[in-house]
Amino acid sequence: MKELVIISGKGGTGKTSITAAFAALADNAVVADCDVDAADLHLVLAPHVMQTQDFVGGKRAEIDPHRCTRCGLCVDVCRFDAVKRPHVDGDYCIDAISCEGCGVCAAFCPQQAIAFEDCTNGQWFVSETRFGPMVHAALGIAEENSGKLVSLIRREARRIAEEEKKDLLIVDGSPGIGCPVIASITGADMVLIVTEPTLSGMHDLGRVAQLAANFSIPTRVCINKADLNPRIAQDIENNAHKRGIGVAGRVRYTDAFTKAQIMQCSIVEYADGAEAAEDTRNLWRNVTHGF
Ligand code: SF4
Ligand code: SF4
Repeated sequence: MKELVIISGKGGTGKTSITAAFAALADNAVVADCDVDAADLHLVLAPHVMQTQDFVGGKRAEIDPHRCTRCGLCVDVCRFDAVKRPHVDGDYCIDAISCEGCGVCAAFCPQQAIAFEDCTNGQWFVSETRFGPMVHAALGIAEENSGKLVSLIRREARRIAEEEKKDLLIVDGSPGIGCPVIASITGADMVLIVTEPTLSGMHDLGRVAQLAANFSIPTRVCINKADLNPRIAQDIENNAHKRGIGVAGRVRYTDAFTKAQIMQCSIVEYADGAEAAEDTRNLWRNVTHGF
C-alpha cells in the first residue's frame, strides 16, 4: 500500500479539488482529509458517517474560585498571558483561547485551585463515500493540536487501508509548512505539491518543497490554473527542475471546478469540464506512474 499526500504550501491553489478527482480516479483507495483546520473535502465526496469519535488532544486549566486565595502567582507564571486578573472584586479566570495547556499554573498554584484536565478539541469520523472509505475530522473553533489530529487521522486511515487491502492512501494535507503539514507528510511515499502561477504560489512552493526535501520524500509538482500566467508557470517549472522535482502536470483554469463542487462532484465526474478533466487524468497517470 502506497501513500500519496497532496499539499500546497499556499492555500487556495485547488489542492482539495485535485484530491477529490484523484479519489474518483483511484480503483482501490482510502481517502484521508488531513486539512483539519479547514476541512472541506467532505463537501465534494459527501461521506456517509459510520463512526464518530471525540478527539481529546490536550488539557485545559480552570480555576476553582472557592479554593483560590487571589495570590496572583498564576498570572506571573503564565507565559501566554492567559490568566486574567480581576479589575476590582471578582475571580481570577483563564482565557480558553489564549491558554496553551502547558499546565504551569496548575503546578505552581499553592492552593491546588487549578484543575488541569483533558479537553475535547473536536471529533473525527470514519465514513463511506462513493469511492470507498474516508477518514476525516472537525476541529472545534480556535482549538489547538491539529498536528496531533492529523497524525491520528493518518494512522486510522492506514489501519483501514491495510485491513481492507487497499492499494493506495490518498491524503489531503494541510496548507503552509507548520506542524500539521509535517504531521501530514512524514513517512509518505510521495508528495504532490499543487501550486498556481502567482508570485505567492511560487514562493510558497519553494518553502514546502524544501520541507519535503528535508524528509527525503519523493516530490512532484502540479501547476494548477497554469494558463492564468504562462510566464510564471514556466518559472515554476524551471525552478522545480533546478530542485530536481518533476512537474507531473499542468491543469488549465476553468470555472468548471467550482461548478462541479456546487454539484458535489469532482472535475472528472462533471460533464461540462472535459478539458480540465483530461488534464487531471494526465496528472493522475503521471503521479501514479511514479510509484
Ligand atoms: S495561583 Fe492559585 S490561588 Fe493564586 S491566584 Fe492563581 S489560582 Fe488563585
Ligand atoms: S495552562 Fe499554561 S498557558 Fe494555560 S493558563 Fe496555565 S500557565 Fe497559562
